[in-house]
Amino acid sequence: MSRPELRVGPLPGGPGRVSAAIDLPDGETRILKLAERTDHLSGPDRSPLLDGDYEANGGDLTWAAVGVIPVAMNLGADLVVDGVVQKGMRGRLAEFSEIWHGWRPDLFEALEVRAEGEVTLPADRSGSVVAFSGGLDSLHTLRHARQVSSGDPVVAVSLWGFDYRKRDSYFLEVARHAAEVLDGIGIRLALVETNWSEVGSVSISMDYATGLVSALQPFGNAFSMAWTGAHHHRDLAEQFIPCSHNPFTDHLMSSNQFPVETFGYDHSRLEKAEDIAGDPASLGLLRVCNAFNCGVCEKCQRTRWGLFAAGVLRPPSFGWTLPLPRPWLVVSNPWQQAIFDSMWTPIMERAEASSNGSVGLWKLRIQYRMIGWQVEGRGPWRVPLIKPFFRFLAEKEKRFRGAVEKLRWRLRGRRWKRYDHQS
Ligand SMILES: [Zn+2]
Repeated sequence: MSRPELRVGPLPGGPGRVSAAIDLPDGETRILKLAERTDHLSGPDRSPLLDGDYEANGGDLTWAAVGVIPVAMNLGADLVVDGVVQKGMRGRLAEFSEIWHGWRPDLFEALEVRAEGEVTLPADRSGSVVAFSGGLDSLHTLRHARQVSSGDPVVAVSLWGFDYRKRDSYFLEVARHAAEVLDGIGIRLALVETNWSEVGSVSISMDYATGLVSALQPFGNAFSMAWTGAHHHRDLAEQFIPCSHNPFTDHLMSSNQFPVETFGYDHSRLEKAEDIAGDPASLGLLRVCNAFNCGVCEKCQRTRWGLFAAGVLRPPSFGWTLPLPRPWLVVSNPWQQAIFDSMWTPIMERAEASSNGSVGLWKLRIQYRMIGWQVEGRGPWRVPLIKPFFRFLAEKEKRFRGAVEKLRWRLRGRRWKRYDHQS
């Protein structure tokens, strides 16, 4: 019996719209879509950068093949492209599936990729696109992309439709602000809506890198490469396998014609924080959780600790916030614990090194010790009632701060003014 097939075919697109038909083995057809919005831009040039005209781009369907590979692997179906893909992609995607099958044989099967032929992208392309969420990893990557661009254009690409952002009515406001700040440093923000999470994802926390790379691929028409940011240092990344970005399968989602490189595997979170600490634009763009940085959750706290150790006492993007991070925090799973563990030693080293120096770092030493107790189970968390109390407190504070931030946004985003004037 022959293996089932998942077929990918072109659909008519145009300026700012790219789409493909996905035929599943059971007869169901899904449409994978990318749509570039331009209503967040205030400048005169609002023409979209994406071009979904398959005639013009040589019929390249690499983007859709990458986007749906998690579903094909999950269904145990071969991936058949009714069109062409970039050179070498058939082999790379097959290898991708073999590795993922090795990690999660219960979820993913190895597959074959077939296509009508290979495409050659136009030679006269230059510049790069950078996946941009506003988080520490993407800001660090964006800075690197600018440094190595040698004057060629750099475009930041934000995706709308991944995880919580889809429901987030403030996303457009956040994008407008980001576009303004980025414009000030000569970078255009492309805002791309995607329905990938409904069409191509099996489990978004595990496979979202394929959706991300899939959305960057169509920029290969005009740009010569793309960047994404690694979440963790190489050593830590291995603990998180199998998980979205990783040093083992990242390079298998793109070809040499339009390489999508992951930057940051050789940098710790603290090094990234130090990298952006001296850059006012990055500090103003920093977006850690939701539309607002709650300042309370584990992710906000770890980012603030990193920035604090780098000498930034009040990051402007945390708006209404205390000058120092909390002396306690709520770590809810082993992964968060691993990230914190990797941060404590270097943070403490910096605090020790500045023992005669800034008051801020001196305070950090004290706060560090308090947290150290809790994390290592020597602090108040050993008392059963304290931990739920902290959790309760954090939840209340988060809600309260969320309500305050929303109010501030209603008053036309005044919290940004301080930064905007500085820039
Ligand atoms: Zn938060």
